Amino acid sequence: MKNRNYIIVIVVCLVLAGLIFYATRSNNVGGIESLESGKLIWVKCSNPDCGATYQMDEKDYFLQIHEQTRAHPMALQTPALVCKKCGKESVYKAFKCEKCGTIFFSGAVPNDFADRCPVCGYSKTEAIREARKASPGDS
Ligand SMILES: [Zn+2]
Ligand SMILES: [Zn+2]
Repeated sequence: MKNRNYIIVIVVCLVLAGLIFYATRSNNVGGIESLESGKLIWVKCSNPDCGATYQMDEKDYFLQIHEQTRAHPMALQTPALVCKKCGKESVYKAFKCEKCGTIFFSGAVPNDFADRCPVCGYSKTEAIREARKASPGDS
């Protein structure tokens, strides 16, 4: 009988540990809470009948990505967000080209900077790197 009580105590401890682990894990939104809101990013709907582009808070974006990742844990790609216009899960992160104003999906040009404009070829990441290269020792 004593042995059995022992086992029950151990099982209860394990369950508690599991619950605590799960609770702390689900509260921690991967550091998203530490992100400051107020930074707007562009998103674009990949539904050809919709094609909506709009801005959203970067923090909201990551929170929704987190929710979608939890809803589809087996998905290998970045999950799509629900479009606020057509209601389908077809919205992805996008960039707005500073040069020509085109709004395009992140990584529109394969094997290149994610923010490379497919229309005029401008990339802000590249421009920043070039500017850094141009002024060495300026740190
Ligand atoms: Zn849409
Ligand atoms: Zn452009």
